[in-house]
Order: sequence, then C-alpha cells, then structure tokens
Amino acid sequence: MADTFRALMVEKTDDGQQTVFKDITSNDLMDGDVLVSVSHSTVNYKDGLALTGKAPVVRVWPIIPGIDFVGTVESSDHSGFKAGDEVILNGFGVGETHFGGYASKARVKGDWLVKKPAGLTPAQTMAIGTAGYTAMLSVIALEKAGVKPDQGPIIVTGASGGVGSVSIALLAKLGFEVIASTGRPEEADYLKGLGAGDIIERSELSGDPRPLGKERWAGAVDSVGSKTLANVIASTKYGGAVAACGLAQGMDLPTSVAPFILRGVSLLGIDSVMAPLSRRQEAWDRLAADLDLAKLEAMTKTISLDDVPAAATDILAGKVRGRLVVEI
Ligand code: NDP
Repeated sequence: MADTFRALMVEKTDDGQQTVFKDITSNDLMDGDVLVSVSHSTVNYKDGLALTGKAPVVRVWPIIPGIDFVGTVESSDHSGFKAGDEVILNGFGVGETHFGGYASKARVKGDWLVKKPAGLTPAQTMAIGTAGYTAMLSVIALEKAGVKPDQGPIIVTGASGGVGSVSIALLAKLGFEVIASTGRPEEADYLKGLGAGDIIERSELSGDPRPLGKERWAGAVDSVGSKTLANVIASTKYGGAVAACGLAQGMDLPTSVAPFILRGVSLLGIDSVMAPLSRRQEAWDRLAADLDLAKLEAMTKTISLDDVPAAATDILAGKVRGRLVVEI
C-alpha cells in the first residue's frame, strides 16, 4: 500500500516496555487537522526518558515517541497551514500523549505548529530542536529580567549537553562572558569553541549547598536542577537572575530564601512544552537571527531512526555531546 511508512513505537509489555519498528499507514495516526511529512526529528533528554521508561513520560500506549520534528504539510484542515508549508513542532505533549516525530508522517493539531524560519534548513531546525529552543527561551528570560553583559558572566550548567551547548553559543554571540560547568573536562576545547571563556568542574556545584556563596555570576542557564541549581542561585550576584529549565541531576531544589531576600536574585521558570505560540515564534525568530550556524554544525551529529534506541540510553548516561538530529 502506497501510504505505508516506518515508525518507531514503544509498547507496554508485562516486563515494562519495548521498542519496535513497525510499518503503519496514516490511518494508524492519531487525530489532528494537519498531516505532516516528517523529514527530521531529534533525541532530547525527554525522548531518552520516554524510550527507556526511566521516567513516566509516555501517557498513552503504544506510542510513537519524538517530542519534536520538522517537515512539510501534506494536507491541512487548519486555516493557518496549507500543503507545502514547512513546519516545526516542539512539545505540546507530542511523543508523550500524542504520536510524535519518530515516523515518516505525523498528524497533529495545527495550533501546535510553528512555521519554519526561512533562514534555517529543516536539518538546522532539528539540530536546534527542543533543547535549543529551550536554551533560547532561557536566554530571552534572562534578557527580560534585565541581565546585561556588563553585569558579569553567565554560568551554563550541563554545558556539554543540548540545552547547555546551544545556550553557550547564543550567550557568546550576544556578548556575554560564559562560564561552562561540565562533568566532562575532556570537552573543554569543544566548549571553548562554542564561546565559553571559562570551564569549571561539575563537582564544584553538585555538592551540598550553603544558603549564600561568593557572588560569582550575574545570571545562569541551569539544565541540571537539584543541588547544582541551589549552588548556582547561592553564588548569583546581587540583582541577578537564574533560568531553571532542567533536572539532569534531580528534581529537588534544596535552597533557602536567602539569595532571594538578601540579594534580590530572581529564579525564572522555563517551560517549552506548553509555551504559548507567540513566545515560540519569538524564540524561533531569535534563533534564526542569533545562533552562529557554524557552531550549530560543530555541536551536531546526524543519526538514523535505527540509531535512536541506543542514543536514548546514551543521552540519559550523559554521553551525548551537543545535539543529535534524526534523519527520518
Ligand atoms: P542532555 O543530556 O543533552 O544534557 C544534560 C547535561 O547535563 C549532560 O550533557 C551533562 O552535561 C549534565 N548532566 C547529566 N547528568 C548529570 C548529573 N547527574 N549531574 C550534573 N549534571 C549532569 O539533555 P538536554 O540538553 O536535552 O536536556 C537538559 C535538561 O533540560 C533535561 O533535564 C531536560 O529534561 C530539560 N529540558 C527541559 C525543557 C523545558 O521545557 N523546561 C525542554 C528541554 C529540556 P556535562 O557532561 O557537560 O556535565
């Protein structure tokens, strides 16, 4: 049958879950008003959680995971999109409660889609992916909180990861001095190539936090959470701001109010999944304008759909550097 295409699916089993490759048709997809021919997806940390079952990310079974994709509209009943439009999807529960990007076609709600910026190729949009779009949301949040390059450096935690790598490239291009915190000192040259001025060892921030530390940075993009985030907040300069977007170390936050009430530090929450369309469009337009595409290429590796299960294990083990693009 002409409509048959390949999908990576995760099924529930008596022992947990298993990943299988299946031939399906568009009739097997879930409801939606736009059918997209998917060209690329990616592997984000959350995809790692979904594919391995390490956290309850998947809410419907079986599922086609993949929280983001780029592609061309094949057919549309949505007034905002027509056949031939190039579109990006990030989040909105796709890959969690709705079939996602690890298949040649996806049927989704047009309300979830963003038009692909003209200045980026489809592959570049997925090199950015949800991790890079979240990095941009974090940088915009710091700017809106009034953090400026002359106020001091910005620390980026989980620096060699997807959110971290894109954050470094963006902040450096915007004129910020960047401190990269990493557990992979062997990636120092890579991080400096992206624009980090200084590298610190992850363990400097991952231990038990004190309420206040020496004032070291004017702001932060933290994709690590837990004690690391607490230490980052404790060493933020007077009036600075910290964008919290991840939980690679943990979901807890063992901090005190001291940095907030004694130093006027702001903690900025970053959510990419349900972010309103206007904020998404702003982030994608800024990525097209402010991200150095040579640096994006340097942080990106391209893999096939067959490689995705192994990549999921690697990303949770902290072994993936930068970003992974999946050619569908
Ligand atoms: P990556 O795995 O690419 O990056 C995470 C990085 O964190 C790793 O590369 C590693 O960097 C560091 N790290 C890993 N484990 C630990 C640990 N135990 N303690 C301290 N640091 C650790 O993932 P992504 O960049 O895709 O995502 C990063 C985080 O952001 C995830 O928690 C993800 O869920 C979250 N996220 C949130 C979004 C939102 O909407 N708020 C959207 C996208 C992502 P290094 O080796 O350099 O130390």
